[in-house]
Amino acid sequence: MRTKIAQLRAEIEALTASNAEELEKLRIRLLSKKGEITSLFNDFRNVANEEKREMGVLLNELKQAAQEKINTLKESFAKRQEDNTVGDLTRSALPLKIGSRHPLSLVKHEIAAIFSRLGFSIAEGPEIEDDWHVFTALNFPLEHPARDMQDTFFVERNPDILLRTHTSSVQVRVMENRKPPIRLIFPGRVYRNEAISYRAHCFFHQVEGLYIDREVSFADLKQALLYFAREMFGSETRIRLRPSYFPFTEPSAEMDISCNICHGKGCAFCKHSGWVEILGCGMVDPNVLKNCGIDPEQYSGYAFGMGVERIANLKYRTKDLRLFSENDIRFLEQFRAAF
Ligand SMILES: [Zn+2]
Repeated sequence: MRTKIAQLRAEIEALTASNAEELEKLRIRLLSKKGEITSLFNDFRNVANEEKREMGVLLNELKQAAQEKINTLKESFAKRQEDNTVGDLTRSALPLKIGSRHPLSLVKHEIAAIFSRLGFSIAEGPEIEDDWHVFTALNFPLEHPARDMQDTFFVERNPDILLRTHTSSVQVRVMENRKPPIRLIFPGRVYRNEAISYRAHCFFHQVEGLYIDREVSFADLKQALLYFAREMFGSETRIRLRPSYFPFTEPSAEMDISCNICHGKGCAFCKHSGWVEILGCGMVDPNVLKNCGIDPEQYSGYAFGMGVERIANLKYRTKDLRLFSENDIRFLEQFRAAF
């Protein structure tokens, strides 16, 4: 019996199994009711009394060793299977959740891309500004309502420090620091002290544009805006310019495009006029050029400004401005296909 035990011990040490089926066969051969180790236990009663103690220990050790070896092999199979699950590169991809750009970013990038094709670059500036850059340099008379506490957020009750109400303040900074020709667009967030509703918010986004050079005319402005409207809303789009007033441009105009929903026939969206307003524009007032150190005798320029939310409303037919800042994932996910 001693020889048999030693033989089985050696055999168990060297055991291998390449799959679970083979392992089960081994277990049956060694440990089942008719297994080799079990039959040794059965033979135990024939062992001489003086050897019983020693043989008992050896048999128990043998059984334990067999059990441990089988358990170890079983674990290694399970682990190998797990590794294969993680490491299988041929499996189909997990359903990854892909994010989407914010609709206002999409529209802002599209505006920038269109004007970049006309040679415009991008400039940005601070959102906290002083009175000079937001109002005074831009020819706002002291009594102009835009300076009123109703419209402007002032910082720490200091009437000179405020949140910019338009990105024209960046135009002033550029004109003060650069020599013409200047051909830039100015995207950015602006702030107005207004009650929040579906059509107004205390902050919104603008893209303004400025072109200053010798002999820049209103015809240049009109052509640039026609190009923009057709690139943005389709090649059939028509524009019309209505006379308007802004302190910083002379003459000034507001631009409408033919309604891109009814194509000019009249619908609820365009209030049955066939036209929708999209931006304000004009020739830079000579006083503004002078304020910024540019000689209006030598240079002229045009400027325009549009609300990004307004363009997004027209493009995506959203009706409520608040959707853009509520971060409702159900709204934002609709823009996943765009880029
Ligand atoms: Zn319409």
